[in-house]
Amino acid sequence: MSEMDKIIEKCTGCRLCVKECDFLQQYCNNPKELAEGFKAGKHRTNPEIPYSCNICSLCEVRCPEGLNVGKMCFEVRHQLVQEGLAPLQQHQPLKDAQDWYVSDAFKLALPATVASETKRAFFPGCALSAYSPDLVLKTYDYLQQKLPGTGIVLGCCGAPAYLIGEQARFQEIIDGIEADIIKMGASEIIVACPYCCHALKQYLPHLNPRSLYTVLSEIGIPEVAETERHTFSVHDPCSSRFENEMQSSVRSLIEASGHNIEEIEHSKGSTHCCGLGGMAFAVSSDLSRSKARRTIDDARHDLVTYCASCRGNLAANGAHILHVLDLIFNDNEIERRFAPPADPSLAMDNQKHLKLRLLDRTRIEKPLETLPGKVDQESWRQLNNGVK
Ligand code: SF4
Ligand code: SF4
Repeated sequence: MSEMDKIIEKCTGCRLCVKECDFLQQYCNNPKELAEGFKAGKHRTNPEIPYSCNICSLCEVRCPEGLNVGKMCFEVRHQLVQEGLAPLQQHQPLKDAQDWYVSDAFKLALPATVASETKRAFFPGCALSAYSPDLVLKTYDYLQQKLPGTGIVLGCCGAPAYLIGEQARFQEIIDGIEADIIKMGASEIIVACPYCCHALKQYLPHLNPRSLYTVLSEIGIPEVAETERHTFSVHDPCSSRFENEMQSSVRSLIEASGHNIEEIEHSKGSTHCCGLGGMAFAVSSDLSRSKARRTIDDARHDLVTYCASCRGNLAANGAHILHVLDLIFNDNEIERRFAPPADPSLAMDNQKHLKLRLLDRTRIEKPLETLPGKVDQESWRQLNNGVK
């Protein structure tokens, strides 16, 4: 049964979900009414409605019947794409960004060093690479030191395509990641971004995707310099809503970095979306802002999160917020707290330079334009002339 039919059949109109959600408040009295509207074809005349939901699953957590309006909106988006009525014009910048993230200017697959077979690949994701190439490189160095046989894959999990309903494009991107990882000989993926982790667990389970934060809490973090002890609140990304292990790993990393935590009301399973979820910001920037404000207003302390996109949107809406990797690998973490989100051109430069810096370590002295988008193990050895 589709989620739309389930909602029509089971929603009692209690509005427990509506109280927590700006999207529902704007577009309906209750989800049953919304579902009946979609059933009657309202999404074809008002396609911005299904595209304004953050697909964050908070409604499912709140609903006594376990109903998920996000799943229904996702089904409706998919239907609109199949009927040729979407993606919408407002989605063009997202489609352009998606193309960039998987272009040869950023995409890269580097096996581990010549001295060891590649056992696993670190997948930092597009958003963390845009936020801080330094954090990606320091994390990668540390993983290589503690877990020899770790390679790296730069790229994007395909979330923008997936969330706007372009399933075929998304599958093409996922197939590319799978091919790169198998080609380098890895059988495990260490994933930094919670959304990438969610997508890769669902679509590439045979490659054993694991959260970076769980791995770091297992192997331990490098000794951090003595620092003033702060109390932070944690913003859990909505993509980690059902990931209990990831949530507790992040908290153990914050404590291991020498800081305290004071939880906000909406954390872990009941977290609010930062406003970027479901790519809803493309059609509803006001809703995106009001979602961000819910988290910011909830917190009495500066925030720490583990999704670079959440960090960017909450910072853009005035939050003092760090990525958890800043606490572990960034010597200027306090300054970072006040850093605004990178503007799009700087984000692209960061991604490009990350690729260049990784290639530079292989001592390839060629300009970017002539470099291959991905380097398999054998050609990497040749290009590297056997030099570690
Ligand atoms: S919480 Fe569930 S039953 Fe209540 S209004 Fe929302 S979808 Fe309907
Ligand atoms: S998925 Fe999130 S944004 Fe969408 S209706 Fe549910 S709570 Fe609201």
